[in-house]
Amino acid sequence: MNLTARLRCPVCRAETDEVMPVDACVQVHDCASCGTRLRPKPGDCCVFCSYADTPCPPKQADGRTATADCAKLQLQMTQILAADCPEQDRLKP
Ligand SMILES: [Zn+2]
Repeated sequence: MNLTARLRCPVCRAETDEVMPVDACVQVHDCASCGTRLRPKPGDCCVFCSYADTPCPPKQADGRTATADCAKLQLQMTQILAADCPEQDRLKP
């Protein structure tokens, strides 16, 4: 499994090599070049699926269940971060 991905900023086209966590979906990435805060496109589970050249680990492991796995992970992240991260409110249905 490939755990590094080349993430490309849609605003300034800067590319950075990022290491993807296997146990979480990355919802926010700040571009090191222009400072734009990247978020997943609608229907994508994380910024890597939207902007990188490599899909996130759950999708690599099993494309058919990746969405469900990511949703589960997002729920866990929401529960963990809800207390101190107002941004997580947007993930709630
Ligand atoms: Zn940028």
